[in-house]
Formats: sequence, structure tokens, C-alpha cells
Amino acid sequence: MPTVTRRTFLKTGVAGAGALAASGLGFDVAVAESTKVKQSLRIAGARELHSICPYCAVGCSLVAYTRLKSDGNWELLQIEGDPDSPVNEGRLCPKGATAMQLAVSPRRIESPLYRPAGATGWQKISWDQMLDKIAQNIKSSRDATFVATDGNGNTVNRTEGIAFAGGAAFSSEEGYFATKLMRGLGLVHLEQQARV
Ligand code: SF4
Repeated sequence: MPTVTRRTFLKTGVAGAGALAASGLGFDVAVAESTKVKQSLRIAGARELHSICPYCAVGCSLVAYTRLKSDGNWELLQIEGDPDSPVNEGRLCPKGATAMQLAVSPRRIESPLYRPAGATGWQKISWDQMLDKIAQNIKSSRDATFVATDGNGNTVNRTEGIAFAGGAAFSSEEGYFATKLMRGLGLVHLEQQARV
């Protein structure tokens, strides 16, 4: 027996109801016109891919429509909520609805930016330079603020000069890894923006 998904059910239902109403009222021409419009949709014939919104832990499902261009590259045509998802049932919040901009916006920043102390502008640096800078800053802050014993002489071995905040799009595994790493450095100020 064929599987009936929410999507095929809605498609069949809407198309059937539309055809019935149009025939009953003698609007066969309107049906033909609407079919023509449907065939000219810019996602017609596009490849349909399923993904998850990267912005928060709600985990809304997305459908991305892509098409192979004549130059051999894939073009992203549209991203929208997946109607088959039990999480969001085709809907997206305003932030998720802009997910396509992550891929196509000309304002997207694609490399690390660094502003040296006292400088007025940002400069592009490589990922290696950025990681080295973060590592140096963590080392110097930890060395400067590490507390081995508290006021009562108890051994605490903690780093009080660094705080860590996890992102809303963290998976469980990323959250676990980040916590292990930060605890290993002696951090006690850990927070997570879960947005659930
Ligand atoms: S609630 Fe909004 S930001 Fe969060 S996963 Fe859904 S669409 Fe994305």
C-alpha cells in the first residue's frame, strides 16, 4: 500500500477540491490557467533536499530547492519549512524564514575579522591566525586568574577570568564536548542559550 504523507495528502486534497469547484462553476479555463502558472513556478523541476534550521534547538525542518545550472554549479532557489515535519509542520519563525540568506546574502562575513587594540577598523585574518589568537588569549587570561585554593585553604583549581556561552544551535554532542573542554581548563562560569 502506498505511503500517504502529509504533503501528498494536502496536494491531493487541494487539487481535488480545486478541480471540483472549478468544474461545478464552469471554470475549466481557470483550471487550465492555474496549471500553466504552476508549471512556470521557479522551483518547478528543482531538486528537493531536506535539512534542519541551524539557528536554535527547536530543530525545525527545512526543504531546500536546488537546480543544476548550465555551468555545472548548483543554484539554491528557495528554502522553506517542511510540511512533513512533526516539529514545525511547514512553519518557520521569522529568523528561520531567512535561512536562505545564510547562503546567498552578499553581506555574509566569510572570514574572521580582527580589530587590534586601539585600531579603528577591522582587518581580515586567516582561520589559523584567529585560532592562535584565541588560544593565546585563553592562556594569558587563565594564567592571570587561576585560583588554586580558596580563602579557607581548600583546593579549588578554577579559572575565574573566563566565561563560556554555548550557542543555541549546539547539538548535544557539541555541548558535551564544549563542557568537557571548559571544565578541563578550570572554568566555572558556563552558560548555554538553549532557546527551547
Ligand atoms: S524556531 Fe525558528 S530559529 Fe528555531 S529552529 Fe525553528 S525556524 Fe529555526
